[in-house]
Amino acid sequence: MNHFDYQDGVLFAEGVSIPRIAADVGTPFYCYSTATIERHYTVLAESLAAAGLKATICFACKANPNLAVIRTLSRLGAGADVVSEGELRRALAAGVPAERIVFSGVGKTRDELAFAIESGIMQINVESEPELLMLSELATAAGREIEVAIRVNPDVDANTHAKITTGKKENKFGIEWTRVREVYAIARALPGLVPVAVACHIGSQLTEIGPFREAFLRLRDLVQVLRSDGTDIRRLDLGGGLGVPYDGETPPSPAAYAGAIAETLGDLGCSVLVEPGRLLVGNAGLLVSSVVRVKTGATRTFVVVDAAMNDLMRPALYDAYHAIHPVTEPSAEVEAVPVDIVGPVCETGDTFARQRPLPPVQAGDLLVFATAGAYGAAMASTYNSRPLVPEVMVNGNRFAVVRVRPSYEEMIAFDRLPDWQSDTKTGQ
Ligand SMILES: *Cc1c(COP(=O)(O)O)cnc(C)c1O
Repeated sequence: MNHFDYQDGVLFAEGVSIPRIAADVGTPFYCYSTATIERHYTVLAESLAAAGLKATICFACKANPNLAVIRTLSRLGAGADVVSEGELRRALAAGVPAERIVFSGVGKTRDELAFAIESGIMQINVESEPELLMLSELATAAGREIEVAIRVNPDVDANTHAKITTGKKENKFGIEWTRVREVYAIARALPGLVPVAVACHIGSQLTEIGPFREAFLRLRDLVQVLRSDGTDIRRLDLGGGLGVPYDGETPPSPAAYAGAIAETLGDLGCSVLVEPGRLLVGNAGLLVSSVVRVKTGATRTFVVVDAAMNDLMRPALYDAYHAIHPVTEPSAEVEAVPVDIVGPVCETGDTFARQRPLPPVQAGDLLVFATAGAYGAAMASTYNSRPLVPEVMVNGNRFAVVRVRPSYEEMIAFDRLPDWQSDTKTGQ
């Protein structure tokens, strides 16, 4: 469910027409719908409450770290799951209270951990023994006690794309199942640390409930064992991963997900953290692009657009599917013909869709890539020296640019010529 609809033949985001924003901002740009983000959060929060769970939803900021997006969620009561100091600083800047922030990630540096301790966040999810030792040392030096979870690797196959599977024993994430008790014992003994939680995150874009259930049942056994060892487990961090429909998939509903949590873990007396990213923002965003030209090749027609793999990397990275729609509603009589939709970047991988049926388009027409709110702008780069793509947020009849497009001058100004070149004609 989202708030992007055709009204009188033109695509709108809530109460604002896409062509109006395009005229103002220029293309390409990302467009987010506040009402859609709010709805996803509310449906999930209500499902968790209805299942009788005491749950906090920590938005996985890596899916979309724009301050306005984080703030939309934090105003509804969301916390944040962060994986770097940059994300932690963004969450704090967007107004997420420190006591609702969890810090995950396999490679947190000493400086990042020290900053997290200083910020007083709720929980740090530790992924290795050396990290545990470093955290203890830093917490002790700061005179603090830090609540920690150990991220466990339950060795469960999430049945998703290999690049976003994280809970198998060959993946780099978490502590392997067989060593978990030992590591909790170390955590209990170390000064400055209070092990209160167990964390797991088995992957992203899961479209079945089975792998979640399997992981939760393993956690259940683990909590009982850890308690018998003397660790006071009070909180369960269940990660994110619930999928969204890109191409007709039918992922489990938030109610089914909440039901599976309640059924497997509900009687342990723990509070629950969930860390959804994609679920909250995936279909709350579009990437809007203009057709640059239509090129007829030897065997196929290429629709060349002004968005590229640097703006939306998922098709190149994961062979991901995004539905592509014209902003002007095609009439029912017009026949769609298969075309390749490509960007201007000098890589064959800069192809958004191959042989995709599309109504005839011409230069200047606007197209949108659907379900681009998660891992879209977040992964954008300036490859081919294309300025970072701007982001727009719509709220009812209003819209605002929530990240500006840098000018070419600003983009180039990050570079410096070394002093031995500064006498050249182009030197500064
Ligand atoms: C990426 C990630 C998430 C969010 O995953 P989604 O599939 O977007 O819900 C949650 N927790 C951790 C630890 C992650 O790395």
